[in-house]
Parts: sequence; structure tokens; C-alpha cells
Amino acid sequence: MLVGLRVSRMAGARGSETFAFLKGVFAPENSFYNLWLDKLWSMTYVIAQPCVDVLDRSCVDECPVDCIYEGSRALYIHPDECIDCGACEPVCPVEAIYYEDDLPEEFGPYLADNAVFFATPLPGREQALGSPGGADDIGPLGVDTPLVAGLPSADPGKETG
Ligand code: SF4
Ligand code: SF4
Repeated sequence: MLVGLRVSRMAGARGSETFAFLKGVFAPENSFYNLWLDKLWSMTYVIAQPCVDVLDRSCVDECPVDCIYEGSRALYIHPDECIDCGACEPVCPVEAIYYEDDLPEEFGPYLADNAVFFATPLPGREQALGSPGGADDIGPLGVDTPLVAGLPSADPGKETG
């Protein structure tokens, strides 16, 4: 059950368009996940493309609420569990973490993609991850969103899943 929803902040038009597109792809209109994505549309900090294939977990060590979850090739911030403290942003060695208003245009899709990681069933899973309330207990998920999974490897000699 999702608790403590933060729905007060509106995203910019660019992010809203991306979010609406991804919702249409992954969550049919009036479905549970569609409604859930609407509620999750209050995220504040986002992990973007530079994290892919880096995953050094420096951000995880700084997060006071354990809301940074590990996929296979990247980490994802839970938009509802994040308390917007900003502690993770300066420790990232590749500048992958942004406050939503500071997200560069090229990384716009990652605003919705962090929510998709939790609100829709990931490849090979029947249930969405939802709001586990802490990443440490569930450990690495070993799977990514379609957006991240489809990126070319940062190491051309290494195959991606
Ligand atoms: S902003 Fe704070 S609460 Fe949110 S992911 Fe970063 S360290 Fe965790
Ligand atoms: S600190 Fe940056 S590169 Fe390292 S896991 Fe976190 S987001 Fe990814």
C-alpha cells in the first residue's frame, strides 16, 4: 500500500509529456498502475543515464531512508519514499542524480522512468515492486526498466541484458 503520497508539486511540461507517454505504454487508462503513476508524479530526485553500468552505490550510503533501489545496470530512486534531503546528489561521481527541476533536457525521460521501475511489473515479473519501504531488505533486483535495459553498454565488449 502506498502511503505518504506527495502530490503537491507539478512537473514541467516536458516531463509531463514524457510521463503521459510512458503511462500510455505501460499502464492502461483507469488501471491501477495508471492511477498509481499519477500519485507517484511527485518525485523530486532522479537518477539518470550516467549511472548506467557504473553503480558504485555511493548514493546508497548517503540516503537516510534507504529509498535508492538497485536494478541490473542502474539504480532508481523511489519517488514516494524519497524525502528530498539532497544528500545523494553531491556524492555521485558521474553527476547522475538531479533534483527534478534541474534535470537536463537530455535526461528528461528518467523522471518518469524512475517511477516506472516501481509502478509497473518489470520484465520477467508478474507484480510491480510497489513501495517496499527500504532497498536493503530486498537487495539488487537484477532487472531494469525497458529504457535502461535497451541502452548500449558503456563497455562495448560487455553484453547487456
Ligand atoms: S534526496 Fe535524500 S532521501 Fe531522496 S534519494 Fe537522495 S539521499 Fe535518499
Ligand atoms: S552514486 Fe551515481 S553512479 Fe553511483 S550508484 Fe548512485 S547514481 Fe549511480
